[in-house]
Amino acid sequence: MPRPILATIHPAALRNNLQAVRKHAGDARVWAVVKANAYGHGIERVFGAMQAADGFALLDLAEAQRLRSLGWRGPILLLEGVFDARDLELCSRLGLWHTVHCEAQIDMLAAHKTHEPHRVFLKLNSGMNRLGLRPAQFRAAWARLDALPQVDEISLVTHFSDADGARGIAEQFAAFNAACGDLPGERSVCNSAALLRFGSDARVASDWVRAGIALYGSAPDFPAPSSAAWGLEPAMSLRARIIGTQTLQVGDCVGYGSTFVAERPMRIGVVACGYADGYPRHAPTGTPVLVDGVRSRLVGRISMDMLTVDLSDTPSAGLGSEVTLWGCSTKGARLPIDEVASSAQTVGYELMCALAARVPVVVDTEAADT
Ligand SMILES: *Cc1c(COP(=O)(O)O)cnc(C)c1O
Repeated sequence: MPRPILATIHPAALRNNLQAVRKHAGDARVWAVVKANAYGHGIERVFGAMQAADGFALLDLAEAQRLRSLGWRGPILLLEGVFDARDLELCSRLGLWHTVHCEAQIDMLAAHKTHEPHRVFLKLNSGMNRLGLRPAQFRAAWARLDALPQVDEISLVTHFSDADGARGIAEQFAAFNAACGDLPGERSVCNSAALLRFGSDARVASDWVRAGIALYGSAPDFPAPSSAAWGLEPAMSLRARIIGTQTLQVGDCVGYGSTFVAERPMRIGVVACGYADGYPRHAPTGTPVLVDGVRSRLVGRISMDMLTVDLSDTPSAGLGSEVTLWGCSTKGARLPIDEVASSAQTVGYELMCALAARVPVVVDTEAADT
């Protein structure tokens, strides 16, 4: 028997989340962001449910090739553009749209030989200071692109640093409008957080939204509000089984470093999941888990291959009992990945992306009438 740990991808949740995103997007078209192998879910596994998106956005040319191999003929956007002049050949061949965020990428385009002019998304650095041209350079870059026979349509794009936080998007959005308010072309500004929090503001309306994390059922601005409040459902469940139990007396310790000490007699379960499966090693005692669908907590340190959970409230749990690390139990009890991430002082993004290759993954079978 394989080690009892399994990740399950839920296409019905992906469909639901795409609908929820559309509801916020108004008339805008939706890029399903599938970088990092669809945030750890697997491009091939999410493709069926995500085909209702208007396009796919990602970074890696190999991932773009995989999408084309799956039969996707619609738009694909390279969010970071090309890394090398030769990448443009693949863009021409596969019909990829690509971001242009610096002068060097314009130089590469100017030297590129193609019969098919490219659609590009010129990126403004509106204040995040990651990728993009500064406002002072933006118009000259646009004019240069506009003059190139290699370029067909020019769209305008920027990315927000604080869409999920107190600072919000107002300053950067104003910078975007000031830099390119009167330039022609389609616009794309919102990630999940900007869309969910500010998408209903008509002033933020754009032609394309770039939704990532929301599609996978994690709230970009947890804990206010939660994924459920946004109408999002977990697209991934990580479940393992109890492979051992221990009965502790007062003063007994658990795990490496003896960080947990029993203050009363109690039972614990040893679960077949550790940091080598992608579970965060920093998750402290108290991090929520579901034991047979009932909420419980981690106790002690996470090991490479195992972790330990409190069985005080689940007296019938024992060898073989199901432990849900995040997502849904098989009976449908829910543990949002955001709660686990928050307890481990990280974000849902990191946990889903870090699911280890050794964890087997299955795709949930959908009800026939969805
Ligand atoms: C990853 C990414 C997104 C999606 O962000 P989420 O927070 O997951 O919605 C959008 N735009 C760009 C440029 C990205 O790199």
